[in-house]
Amino acid sequence: MATIFTRIASGEIPSFKCAEDENYYAFLDINPLAPGHTLVIPKHIEDDYIFNLDESTYQGLWAFARKVALAIKATVPCKRVGVAVLGMEVPHTHIHLVPLQSEGDMDFRKSRPVVTDEEKKQIAESILKEYEKL
Ligand code: 5GP
Repeated sequence: MATIFTRIASGEIPSFKCAEDENYYAFLDINPLAPGHTLVIPKHIEDDYIFNLDESTYQGLWAFARKVALAIKATVPCKRVGVAVLGMEVPHTHIHLVPLQSEGDMDFRKSRPVVTDEEKKQIAESILKEYEKL
């Protein structure tokens, strides 16, 4: 059965898309640590552990994530973009990209800010616009 993230990448389940190419997809986290918190996934490989990916998919995922991080940094006010790989909840490899003002913004146990769907739509559209310039 397809994972929830495969169903998001195919458009079956809606998401706020930030970037896409043939093999990878980026979209806003539904429950963000900070506005602009983005998830990056391989579209066609559902392995739930990043270090199980084949070399080409693994390298491609990080190269794609770098472009998405540059696009986030260009449009979401932040000091830098933090990176995390957890996978404790959703069994489909994904990289978290989190716009950071301070170290505490990367704390996955903290309470999450409220980001409305209208705000998410605007953030995702501006990240996508920056990504397409790269
Ligand atoms: P992890 O598996 O890395 O521990 O956490 C999974 C992340 O995916 C969480 O930050 C959670 O908010 C996010 N997430 C879970 N389900 C959905 C979903 O259906 N849509 C989106 N956009 N994000 C999700």
